[in-house]
Amino acid sequence: MSDNEIFKRLSIDEMSWLSEAACRKEEVVEADLFFATRLIFAREAIRICENCPVQEKCLDYVLKVPHNEDHYGVMGATTRIERKKLR
Ligand code: SF4
Repeated sequence: MSDNEIFKRLSIDEMSWLSEAACRKEEVVEADLFFATRLIFAREAIRICENCPVQEKCLDYVLKVPHNEDHYGVMGATTRIERKKLR
């Protein structure tokens, strides 16, 4: 998910965990998967997140973003709607 705008908010120090992100590995399917609006497609992205070594850090990070600024797709194995409930 190298083109995920939300990752661009990270400082250099915070970005260290991104090198382990499963969504940034070459073998991972298209980044569009993470921005799918239908749950049936988002499930594949969620499956990738569930096997991501930095899933917890990713979820912690995205939950700090106010909901009205969170316009992103699947992150930390959650959809935007799920994150709204977690905040
Ligand atoms: S948890 Fe998902 S969105 Fe977050 S870094 Fe890992 S694969 Fe990417």
